[in-house]
Amino acid sequence: MLQSVDTGERSLEAYRGVAPDPILDRLRDLADGLRGLRVLHLNATPYGGGVSELLRSAIPILSDLGLVAEWKVISGDESFFSVTKAIHNGLQGAERSLSEAERATYAATSERNAALLEEVYDVIVVHDPQPAAIPSLHGKGESRWIWRCHIDTASPNPEVWAFLRSYLEGYDGAIFTLRDFLPPDLPIARVEIVPPAIDPLSPKNIDLGEQTARQVLDWIGVDLDRPLVTQVSRFDPWKDPLGVIAAYRLAREEVTGLQLALAGSMALDDPEGWDIYGEIQEASAADPLIHVFTNLTGVGNVEVNAFQRLSEVVVQKSIREGFGLVVSEALWKETPVVAGRAGGIPLQLADGVGGALVDSVEECARAMVALLRDPGRAAELGRSGRERVREHFLLPRLLLDELTLMSDLVAGVPRPAPSSERDPVCGMTLVEPESAPSAGFRGLAYRFCSDHCRARFELAPERYVGRGGPAPSTEGAP
Ligand code: UDP
Repeated sequence: MLQSVDTGERSLEAYRGVAPDPILDRLRDLADGLRGLRVLHLNATPYGGGVSELLRSAIPILSDLGLVAEWKVISGDESFFSVTKAIHNGLQGAERSLSEAERATYAATSERNAALLEEVYDVIVVHDPQPAAIPSLHGKGESRWIWRCHIDTASPNPEVWAFLRSYLEGYDGAIFTLRDFLPPDLPIARVEIVPPAIDPLSPKNIDLGEQTARQVLDWIGVDLDRPLVTQVSRFDPWKDPLGVIAAYRLAREEVTGLQLALAGSMALDDPEGWDIYGEIQEASAADPLIHVFTNLTGVGNVEVNAFQRLSEVVVQKSIREGFGLVVSEALWKETPVVAGRAGGIPLQLADGVGGALVDSVEECARAMVALLRDPGRAAELGRSGRERVREHFLLPRLLLDELTLMSDLVAGVPRPAPSSERDPVCGMTLVEPESAPSAGFRGLAYRFCSDHCRARFELAPERYVGRGGPAPSTEGAP
């Protein structure tokens, strides 16, 4: 039997007054028609990184909505997770080939895990490449299988992609974070674009109160009389921690006493983390104003919450990114963000809301300094960022979008149901479509979460109204 992860019990009603009511109501209505649906989420680690973060919050709410929801993790040894990290990096475009031995390791471990999947489900959602081979090795049975890809697979390394692609052919549906991430020849017909979301009620995001947050950071040795910038992310080259240190050093020439915190987690499925950790230690060893923390040395959810709350600026200098949950986490705490223009980050910082997008170490330093020198502007960006997160990036919206796909697959609906309530670019359900930015195309009106999505649509509308795009409204076409 595969290992189950226990996530406890929580109620959707707890989100009333926090997440938008119309989204909660639509979610409840949709879930009413899915009562008793047996749903399994399958991934590679019960802790560390965005996927486990999401599942820990999503599973109890699905159960509260009347579904029979479970979370299980596959298991593997270090050599398996080294191969899956190589696949992960290759899918994000890294130059890397897979040896015969590595392919055999992936296949053998996948086969062992497939044999351990004993229960029967109506829908099985498989997250990322690590467990992706399970349906082809286990057999699809009566289940609908969804591949949920959280990473940027827009320009995958062809050899790595061809290897993984051969395992994806049996899937009934796929979910990607951004339309831009779709690989060129995905062998899955039904595709849904759904950006992730944060849980505003988790210990990481719940309101902490300034005094408590200060005590938490004081306790781990951060001097809150000095200005503080923080990056919270796995120790991963794509998150560019050495670039953050370089940008921080430039910024410190302008802002006396500035300190940097790098909080990074080690995930079970990410053996590369220790090497990067070593590089960061080396780069920061002689610098007492750089603090490096990990989840293995006492920095857990509450500490991350305090860092994201009390930092003057949160940095996320990613070079490649899936979504970057940490951006929404910081914005939810009204902290402005300086972040790399990568993956889902521009969607979160759309329309100049919440902070600044940067493309280099120098720009990153300049944006940090500008915000550190202008607390009024920083506060304004933080407030606008929180509002954008409230409207678009909270858990109930994510569950609504995912359940829409599950409901269609179970009912045998081959294409998305007509809806003018979803942004055709980012795929998100809109809270108030009537007042959202709109654009016309071929006499029909489309609605968007931001001017950023509308501008993207206007550049190439045919890209968004074809496969997987929602049907628009015929009313009020501009
Ligand atoms: N995280 C954490 N502790 C750390 C580093 C990261 O709890 O030291 C969490 C972070 O708060 C976020 C998740 O791990 O919830 C990372 O998700 P994101 O989408 O930003 O990146 P991923 O790791 O999935 O690439």
